[in-house]
Amino acid sequence: MAGFNLAYVKNTSVDAIVIGAGPNGLAAAIELARSGKSVRIYEANDTVGGGARSGELTLPGFTHDICSAVHPLALGSPFFSTLPLDQYGLEFIHSPIALAHPFDDGTAAVLVRSVEATSEKLGRDRSAYRDLMTPFVERWHDLASDILGPPRLPRHPFLAARFGMRAIRSAKAFAESTFRDDKTRALFAGLAGHSFLALNQLATSAFGLVLGLLAHTNGWPVAKAGSQSISNALAAYCKDLGGEIVTDLRIESLSDLPSAKAILCDLTPRQIVRVAGEFLPTSFRRRLSRYRYGPGAFKMDWALNAPVPWRSAECSQAATIHLGGSFAEIVASEELVSSGQHAEKPFVLLCQPTLFDPSRAPQGKHTLWAYCHVPNGSQVDMTERIENQIERFAPGFRDCILARSVIGPAKLEQRNANLVGGDINGGSQHLAQMFTRPTMSLYSTPKKGLYICSSSTPPGGGVHGLCGYHAARVALRKSLS
Ligand SMILES: Cc1cc2nc3c(=O)[nH]c(=O)nc-3n(C[C@H](O)[C@H](O)[C@H](O)COP(=O)(O)OP(=O)(O)OC[C@H]3O[C@@H](n4cnc5c(N)ncnc54)[C@H](O)[C@@H]3O)c2cc1C
Repeated sequence: MAGFNLAYVKNTSVDAIVIGAGPNGLAAAIELARSGKSVRIYEANDTVGGGARSGELTLPGFTHDICSAVHPLALGSPFFSTLPLDQYGLEFIHSPIALAHPFDDGTAAVLVRSVEATSEKLGRDRSAYRDLMTPFVERWHDLASDILGPPRLPRHPFLAARFGMRAIRSAKAFAESTFRDDKTRALFAGLAGHSFLALNQLATSAFGLVLGLLAHTNGWPVAKAGSQSISNALAAYCKDLGGEIVTDLRIESLSDLPSAKAILCDLTPRQIVRVAGEFLPTSFRRRLSRYRYGPGAFKMDWALNAPVPWRSAECSQAATIHLGGSFAEIVASEELVSSGQHAEKPFVLLCQPTLFDPSRAPQGKHTLWAYCHVPNGSQVDMTERIENQIERFAPGFRDCILARSVIGPAKLEQRNANLVGGDINGGSQHLAQMFTRPTMSLYSTPKKGLYICSSSTPPGGGVHGLCGYHAARVALRKSLS
């Protein structure tokens, strides 16, 4: 419980309390502290960071990202960009290619920073891709301010409408009507696959568009030395602003907390019912209980004695690789997961940080990170299927393995109660829960001074701190002014 005694942390009152030191909890605490409020965070784990932590999951000397690894959202976050995190050791590293998507014929589609250079490699879809991305890339800051937050009247209505018309469509329909080549469609399907939704669902196109735009506007970097550096920088800055962080203390009930004018929960609805249920009206508890969680992640990490032997040279230039093959294959695999089944050839999201950040492994050795989607709470071991997908595009991969770590949905949830059934986004991000999450009240609850600041609020999953920032602004206005 780092530097605090139990009587102190249980009895000394502060202006605001944050439960949970994930990126959103830390972001909320920073916003409160820099507005002059005294704030204390209580974190169940012995380290800060929630979904942005690193550790030696395989062998000594190999640092793995336990959850998040690729950070277009952190680098592109309008909130993080206002913080001096570089002064607290945070450095982002970019690979020459942001994302590579290999195919069975040995080629790969790639996303690089320049729209022009990306579109040049997309054959018949060259102008379709360029015409789609350019207007949004040119006005990314205006667009981001309208789409990365709670729903409200857009400040740039024509731009937002142009984006919205495309974003509201299903990724499948959008890719089929916008692109002619299967490889471009597959590239887009891989981006939209980050939604954890079946790609024939409305608004899955939004995920493909935003992640594609982020590659062109900010890149898809990894954090030097691991994602823990993001959390450590946030925590160190928070402490410099006067914030207190108490680790290794799980909050079981609001009654365990000292008095505070505001309590912000970096928790998902299920834990909020557990921790605060007795203080909430039945109708609100019922609404929280109806909140839907999405599919889970099956996460793997490897220590390798050599880089992955990709057939396509482009793959060795990219930190992130999408393994799913053709458009039809990715669409089918995500549809299976959504209907409660397991894909034989799952869509695999993979990151190979040590090619660009050798500090994470002994000299000449490498780490590898990957996950695939599985039904919520799945107990099926996907090890073989994930490794088959890697081997398919990198024959000889298995010969490089020194050790592996396997973390299925149950283990993910054991390590962080917010990962309900392995859901990494704090709840399904389907259209009805995209903007009005977890309820129409967003960050507020019927209990005076109680707020929600986790990825179960807009704009949802990812390491960007925006849920925490927006919740803190609401708490400052309603309870701390
Ligand atoms: C396998 C995996 C891969 C991912 N990959 C990426 C990626 O590459 N890029 C990206 O941007 N995002 C990624 N994400 C998603 C990202 O990690 C989350 O969206 C983000 O961490 C959400 O932040 P949060 O603060 O809302 O919640 P969390 O990060 O989940 O933090 C919640 C914190 O609250 C604590 N807590 C819970 N209950 C209690 C309690 N009762 N008392 C005290 N503390 C409590 C938890 O221990 C945890 O530290 C990934 C997630 C996972 C799991």
